[in-house]
Amino acid sequence: MLDFLAQTLAGKVPTQTAGKNSHLRWQWWDEGILALTPHQSVEKTLVLSAGVHGNETAPVEILAQVVDSLLAGELELQWRLLVILGNPAALRSNQRFQHSDMNRMFGGRWQQFPESIETQRACRLEHAVDLFLAESEETICWHLDMHTAIRSSYHPRFGVLPARTTPYDEAFLSWLGCAGLQALVFHQSPGGTFTHFSSEHFNALSCTLELGKAQPFGENDLSQFDVTKQALQALLSGETSPCAESAPLRYKVAQQITRHSDAFVLHMSAQTQNFTAFPKGTLLAEDGDTRYVVKEDIEFVLFPNPNVATGLRAGLMLREI
Ligand SMILES: [Zn+2]
Repeated sequence: MLDFLAQTLAGKVPTQTAGKNSHLRWQWWDEGILALTPHQSVEKTLVLSAGVHGNETAPVEILAQVVDSLLAGELELQWRLLVILGNPAALRSNQRFQHSDMNRMFGGRWQQFPESIETQRACRLEHAVDLFLAESEETICWHLDMHTAIRSSYHPRFGVLPARTTPYDEAFLSWLGCAGLQALVFHQSPGGTFTHFSSEHFNALSCTLELGKAQPFGENDLSQFDVTKQALQALLSGETSPCAESAPLRYKVAQQITRHSDAFVLHMSAQTQNFTAFPKGTLLAEDGDTRYVVKEDIEFVLFPNPNVATGLRAGLMLREI
């Protein structure tokens, strides 16, 4: 049987590139790209990705376990499913990226970056998703891209949803709550993330899931991700997942902090957690003459990171909806 994760980490073409069991047939498309199709016709398509950042290993391990169950025929499949391990080269070296952050490059933005493993891979993944979703006659299309955050967080599991002109389907948002997400963050402007790409180009209901803090392979306490894994298994096999947790809090992006020059200074400590609250008037960051100040009564910080390349996001400020 195909060991999708081991094969991807080994960087070799599997000896068998297609197969089937009593529930589904599968086809290995390329390194880290696997398509699974149920024998019966279904109305739903799902793109399930992890490892777009190579050091975010917990979701990769969860995804590998789910794929193993599907390939072993232990799990029924009620979706056409495209499974993606985003950045195999970075996964092998346990680095966020080899050259530059791939999750800023989607939607063709890779063309504006110097050519690298990541620009090539972003292009490859866009083609794979395009091909898979172009074949789709299904009415429901979801994309779940699983990550872990660099920092600790007041909400250990949360989702970030791309800006969208049409409203989100409440069934989708409610499933995200059942998958253990404690907060949902709604972007208000376009970005170069994988989920923005699938949402913008294919009208997919897309979410970037942030599941705890990044740890190396083998050092993850996967029990804290059980709720997400169980919800995924239930989703794939067409069962309703039990929702013990309360509905996630909702936030929207109030402002973005961008690093424009080497003079950039972020006025937060390295220990500042995601969703830390700052009162109105707080000076958050400075970049030459540009000052980033809290404008709402309270804003909450997300993804503070002063060490990004110039022109990229050094943090988001949120307000609660
Ligand atoms: Zn990530």
